[in-house]
Amino acid sequence: MAGIYIHIPFCKQACHYCDFHFSTSVKKKPAMVEALCHELELRKEEIPGEVETIYFGGGTPSLLEKEELEKIFKGIYENYSVVEDPEITLEANPDDLSEEKIKMLADSPVNRLSIGVQSFFEEDLKLMNRAHNEKEALLSIQAAKKYFNNISIDLIYGIPGMSNDRWKENLRIALDLEVPHISSYALTVEPRTALNSMIEKGKIAPVEEGPAREQYEIMIEVLEKAGFENYEFSNFGKPGYFSRNNTAYWFGKPYLGIGPSAHSFDGLRRKWNVSNNTLYIKALEKGEIPVEIEELSAEDRYNELVMTRLRTKWGVSVDEVERSFGKDYKEYLLREAARLIKNGMLEWKEGRLHVSRKGKFLSDGIAAELFRVEEE
Ligand code: SF4
Repeated sequence: MAGIYIHIPFCKQACHYCDFHFSTSVKKKPAMVEALCHELELRKEEIPGEVETIYFGGGTPSLLEKEELEKIFKGIYENYSVVEDPEITLEANPDDLSEEKIKMLADSPVNRLSIGVQSFFEEDLKLMNRAHNEKEALLSIQAAKKYFNNISIDLIYGIPGMSNDRWKENLRIALDLEVPHISSYALTVEPRTALNSMIEKGKIAPVEEGPAREQYEIMIEVLEKAGFENYEFSNFGKPGYFSRNNTAYWFGKPYLGIGPSAHSFDGLRRKWNVSNNTLYIKALEKGEIPVEIEELSAEDRYNELVMTRLRTKWGVSVDEVERSFGKDYKEYLLREAARLIKNGMLEWKEGRLHVSRKGKFLSDGIAAELFRVEEE
């Protein structure tokens, strides 16, 4: 089983915190769709077996018109064998989700919407330079619920100036809307973003870890009480609504990334496409795939497994580490973990290592302490 990721590299405007690959000019959208279809055809041999999940990410996939989406689906279904009940997610921004657009999506093979709400409050949306307002955030979800039951929304916490009360209000609104899945990320300041330069110039307050941590703790408490399971550090789902796409990714299943800047993984190698729309389109016009390849060492694969699994509710299986990497790795893991178990950051449950509740917010740092570093 494998997944297909399709990157749609266009956005209406640049959100201040974003460092993903996108262009705010949609002039090349038709040529991009042709190139995506061409890449789908050229790489069809790379997927072993059936496709279980398809994910349209970006950028802003909800900028795709009906005919463009149809062309891409044709490219997928003509070249790949898709299981009978795939999960097909499309990321959408609230300002694109008119009832007409939602109906169009519901009539297509898309069966899961991931809506980039980020906040239900105007102040936060303005600070982040989101293209939608608070009214559109609400209305888009209400309209989407008429046609989709598998809906996820994204929310951002740790925004400068956002009080814990406003964060709680965001969560309450999300719960009132009865969406079955929430992905939530701390606002991070990436270099070369408008947010970074605004903070450096003192125009807005810096992003601080303290409030982010408090809001993360609030979120776990509020959402777990409401019946959500925190099945991965940033992901909360009601039973039956965990993202199949993300879960496959955390379990190291192969996926094919189509489009500029998209990454692929086949179990042993990581590949990534050029992050430039013009170069990507030109290469595909010549029948070339503008890709770079990195062979992952055993250390790299072990480190990735530890990093991704520790963030999930399933934790790291010590048997799996031994099966995949050998006894030496298992012993290394147990040796390094002993210290972290002793100080209460890790727990040991039925042959698996989990971060404790105390260590949860620090999951990535804890995982890093279990990494193996390649010897020169
Ligand atoms: S809509 Fe998404 S991809 Fe586009 S700029 Fe905003 S955060 Fe980045």
